[in-house]
Formats: sequence, C-alpha cells, structure tokens
Amino acid sequence: MGRTLTKMIQQGQTIGIIGGGQLGQMMALDAKQTGMKVIVLDPTPACPAGQVADDQIVAPYADVKAITELARRADVLTYEFENVDLNALEDVADKVYVPQGTHLLYTTKNRIREKTFLRDAGLQTAPFMAVKNETDLKKAVDEIGYPSVLKTCEGGYDGHGQEVLHSDADLAKCAGILSTKDAILEGWVPFKLECSVMVARNENGEVTVFPVSENIHHNEILHLSIVPARISPELQKKAQQMAVKIAHAIDLRGILGVEMFVTADGQIYINELAPRPHNSGHYSIEACNFSQFAIHNRAICNWPLPKIKLLQPVVMVNVLGQHVAGVRQQIAKKPNWHFHDYGKAEIRHNRKMGHVTILTDDIEATLKEIDNTGIWQK
Ligand code: AMP
Repeated sequence: MGRTLTKMIQQGQTIGIIGGGQLGQMMALDAKQTGMKVIVLDPTPACPAGQVADDQIVAPYADVKAITELARRADVLTYEFENVDLNALEDVADKVYVPQGTHLLYTTKNRIREKTFLRDAGLQTAPFMAVKNETDLKKAVDEIGYPSVLKTCEGGYDGHGQEVLHSDADLAKCAGILSTKDAILEGWVPFKLECSVMVARNENGEVTVFPVSENIHHNEILHLSIVPARISPELQKKAQQMAVKIAHAIDLRGILGVEMFVTADGQIYINELAPRPHNSGHYSIEACNFSQFAIHNRAICNWPLPKIKLLQPVVMVNVLGQHVAGVRQQIAKKPNWHFHDYGKAEIRHNRKMGHVTILTDDIEATLKEIDNTGIWQK
C-alpha cells in the first residue's frame, strides 16, 4: 500500500480489446460501469462485446491495419483469448500501453513451453514429453506409460486435439495429432476433482487471488463451477498459493486462470493456464466483492487491487446451445437465479450462449435443483 502506481489509466480513457466474445463482453460491461470507453476488434459485426462497447472495429483478429487502428484509438490494449497474433501485438507495443506484454501469451500458447515454465517455477505438473513423430511417441510412452494423453501443443481447446491412450492398441489413433509435428504426451493424473483459481497482478506487483472453483465438465466442456470447491480449507489455501506463485514467476499483469487437478491424497497438479478471464470465474460477478472482469480491468489499468471476498457460496452452470430453450422457461420459475445471455446471433449445439449463477447456502440442494430441471442431461 502507499506505493505510487507507474501508469494509471483514468476514467474516460479507452480500453481496446482484441476479441469480442463473451469474455470481452463482460470485460466491457465492467469497464463501462467504471467510466471507461471500450473499443473491440472482432470480425463478426455486433459480436457479444461489440453490443456493449462504444465502438467495434469489424476486421479479422490478425489484420495488422485493424490492430494498428485499435492501438491508435486505445489507451490500453488487452485481449480476451489466447490466439492473438503475437507479432501484431509486438508491432503495436510502441503505440499503445500493452501491460500484459507478449511473454505470457507466448508461454501459454504452447503446452510444452507452458509446462516447462511451470516445472522450472517449482510447480507440480503431470509428467510430460515433447512428441514430434512416431519414434518420439514410442519413446515417450516407454517413459511415461499408460494411461497417458497425447495433445496438440497449440490450438487445442475443450478436449479437441487430444487422444487418451490406454495401451499400444491406441497408438494407431494418434496419426491426426502427430501430423501437426508438435505434440505433447502427458501422464494421466488420477484426479479426484478439477478446480481452478483466478489470480491477478498489476504492474506494481500487487496480487489478488479468487476463491477456488470446483469444475465439472460434460463432454470436455465446462458444465458447472462450484465455489468454494469441495476440498479441505488447507488444500484451498495451497491451490491459491500455487496460483500466486505462478503470477509472480511469470511477472503477470492482468488476470490469469490456473486450472488444476486434485488427487485423493491431496496432491495438486497444474493442468494449464489461461491468460485471461476464464469461464470458471464467471461466478465472481455475483458472488464476490469484485468480479474477475473488474479485477482484470483494475490490473491492466494499474489500479490498486483489493482483497477478494466470497460473499456467498455459489453454483454457476453453463448454458450451451442445446440448453437455451429449457433455460428460458426457467426464467418465470426461478426468481433467485441470475440469467446471463451473451447475445450471440446463432444458437448452435455445444456453443456457449450464456450462464446461470445461483447464490446458495446449500450447494447440494442447489445441485439437485439444477438436476431436477432436466435441462442439463449428459
Ligand atoms: P485440457 O485441454 O488440457 O484442459 O484437457 C481437457 C480435459 O481433459 C481436462 O479438463 C481433464 O479433464 C482431461 N485431462 C487433460 N489432461 C489430463 C491429464 N494429464 N490427466 C488427467 N486428465 C487430463
């Protein structure tokens, strides 16, 4: 406390966001409430963030002219996803304040770089080896054993570009992933549950950390987050400490999602890092004194960071395309549910369309209530 912040973005100044999906939308909503101006770059006219921003530049994410225009018009530049063109971002770094830099993105874009960074920083990950071809794969399987999982190093999401291997018979399924010539074999972590922690840091080195979210996936897509996670207070603290350690080690600016596996014997493994707000942090909009979006904006604007408090236990459930009709019928029945809809033009199967947040003093009863709607069948 009391230190002078290096560069504070003021109310009335402009945040430029590369990417206009729901994460950008919720960043923009917070920024507008705080009195910032927001310009979004996204190729889809009236994309979710474009609907709430002051302006949208409609152009592809990697369009250098468009990024340059965004840089010229913004006072601080951020992004809402990791597939940002690193070269384009580096090119505009002398025109606009880019507090997050490019090192974080460079590291988290690639699973080998990410896991190597984590291991070097003293954090536990699944055993892993780089795999560029079939010979590497055989060597890695000899070393790591089964079960294990082969993943593309870049561009995979929500379980895409992954193959779980149980025996030599599964090696034949790996051709697609091997054709990328850039894969990773990871040992399978026999986790009891998956959780995540959002952590943020500003240029002054102040750090703040969110409560631990327990994450349940359906078909590799986040289905539910439960906060606080149903693990011991000691493990929750350990998970938060690991996230803070990562934030310092990577010289974080802005917010970072840290995905973890927790095993039955109380070990925590870091799975992956998301250099942006994260779906599992949406609960914080209603359940915390500050949301993950507010904290990200504060961090990139170099405002001091508050201590995060969970105001009430909470369950967040995702609304995918196939859930929209059912969820809309619940609006008339559930006065206490917070219904979020991102305003996407087209409803598609498995597309994230919105989410519902339910503050509760009885997590198990709320999980049953969600189940009883019959909307979220596996
Ligand atoms: P990822 O894209 O790395 O987050 O992986 C998607 C999902 O696959 C994770 O949320 C886990 O449920 C599962 N998974 C991925 N890697 C591993 C691993 N090494 N051990 C156990 N489960 C894994």
